[in-house]
Amino acid sequence: MSYVIAAGCCNDAACVDVCPVDAIRPRPGDPNFRTAEQLYIDPDTCIDCSACMFACPISAIHDGFELPDHLSDFAAINAEYFEEAPLDRRIVDGTPDSTSVPMGARIAVIGAGPAACYAVAELCRIPGITLTVLERLPTPFGLVRSGVAPDHPSTKQISTVFQSALQHPNVTCYFNVEVGKNVRLEELQRSHHAVIYAAGASGDRLLGIKGESLPGSHSARELVSWYNGHPDFVDNQYDFSQKCAVVIGNGNVAVDVARVLVSPVEALEATDMADQAITALRGSAIETVVIAARRGPAEAACTTSELLALCQVPGVEVAVIPEEVAGPGRSGQTASSTQLRKREVFSHLPDARLPADPGVKRIVFRFGVEPSEIHGNRKVDAVTFRRTGGRPAETETVECGLAIRAVGYSISRFPGVPFDESARTVANRGGRVIAEDSGKIQPGLYCVGWAKRGPTGVIGTNKECSLETVAALLDDLTFGRLPEPDLDMADMDRLIRSQNPRVVNIDGWNRIDAEERRRGQTGHPRKKRRKLLKLQEMLHHAARPDSEPDSSAPSGAKLPVAESNR
Ligand code: NAP
Repeated sequence: MSYVIAAGCCNDAACVDVCPVDAIRPRPGDPNFRTAEQLYIDPDTCIDCSACMFACPISAIHDGFELPDHLSDFAAINAEYFEEAPLDRRIVDGTPDSTSVPMGARIAVIGAGPAACYAVAELCRIPGITLTVLERLPTPFGLVRSGVAPDHPSTKQISTVFQSALQHPNVTCYFNVEVGKNVRLEELQRSHHAVIYAAGASGDRLLGIKGESLPGSHSARELVSWYNGHPDFVDNQYDFSQKCAVVIGNGNVAVDVARVLVSPVEALEATDMADQAITALRGSAIETVVIAARRGPAEAACTTSELLALCQVPGVEVAVIPEEVAGPGRSGQTASSTQLRKREVFSHLPDARLPADPGVKRIVFRFGVEPSEIHGNRKVDAVTFRRTGGRPAETETVECGLAIRAVGYSISRFPGVPFDESARTVANRGGRVIAEDSGKIQPGLYCVGWAKRGPTGVIGTNKECSLETVAALLDDLTFGRLPEPDLDMADMDRLIRSQNPRVVNIDGWNRIDAEERRRGQTGHPRKKRRKLLKLQEMLHHAARPDSEPDSSAPSGAKLPVAESNR
């Protein structure tokens, strides 16, 4: 029995690098790597050495002999991948050669989310390079902190990799600093050889239907940020007083939201979910969440692994309308093994038209329907769907108190960073930013992550994406294609502090982190972290000397004098 990659695979591919027999696919650089739901181990090639298990940053790899029952499907899921795509041992290029990089290069990174951190982790190891990381919030890790569902703590373990990159002596962190407000992009360009734009996707795709902006119609991005304690969203209000909620779209974000809305609150209390969200969900009347998607079950945007995990939430039944599962898909293409397995999982789920057991909550997957209108007088009370591919008259109205739009994130334009309107990303070629009209490379400006490739892929997908950009940057640096800075770092530091004296450095973040962990020790015995939710509170703890005993500064407390950055 070989090792098996199971639920929660982050696609970071740390396992690929250590496998002595090259048995893990897809690899960074393989054509399907960026779209892969997860990575897979070929059972016929694996030599059971366990190197991958120890390399996995989130403990998603298991000895096949010791697979827990709830993960038993994954042995077959790994094997099926190689039935469809037998192992080919083509050698792909590894990380870029950094031996000839000139000394003294300065690189700024805008953002401290996963893509930024993977780029920093790669660059900080290169002698002679210094990095400046700028982040709008006082806290790093982007969607690992404010996007990953609180009941997925193993996924969050990747932050230990990111923490050690940010902690590296070649890295200086400027958190609570907003580029464009506290320092201009142009000023960063003048003080660094290169700037990497890693600001992610901060907007929502829109449905463009009537009623979309009614109270009670919310983007999943905002709801997720709210329950994860993002300081911009903690004061949002959600009405959980109705029995039914509708989620539009069936990607992993939709699945996260649906699960959180019906999970037993006792399970959420053990997580780092924001206090105000736990309180609100404790009083929730929601019994049914309908997840509605325009395509068929095989084309569901959620991963098989998240779907299987959803079916195991205690006290929750996942159901379907069997005719919708049996109906033809919309893609017209031959289904892949991943799609066939997904349809197989849906085909074994109970009929949503039969009554659920008393006390059991329900998540109902609907297929082949798209919303045409969100109704309500002063707030949402129903969503009307029309059947895709059917006659226009075929509609159905679902009564609900909440309509959550989980149809994807969107990338916002940033002044000075060219935008590709058709791709809806930063205009770039392999991570080098290019002019919108001429396609000419903008020397010294790069991008990574969702800003570069769009809002798709799991956390670890960003590693390969960032490495591609880093390779381009190192190449440009080595061959002297980058402009020489005319401002020194002290000038830049003065500029930033003159705009915002409340800069949080890595030690400041470490103090916030320590305080959150300390607070986590009170309450539920399994709770590890209770997040600080207000910006003022975060800044207070970031600036507080370690010896100071006070742990609960009132909001708006006077802050100690700004600290030096290192
Ligand atoms: P997503 O995977 O792109 O899913 C978007 C969903 O919205 C799809 O079902 C899509 O349908 C639907 N949609 C888009 N436009 C629509 C429209 N106009 N009308 C109706 N439906 C529409 O996006 P996401 O769920 O926001 O996730 C973003 C990325 O983060 C994904 O790569 C996801 O895997 C990742 N993520 C991973 C995890 C995890 O690993 N646990 C958790 C959260 C997010 P079509 O498929 O028909 O276009």
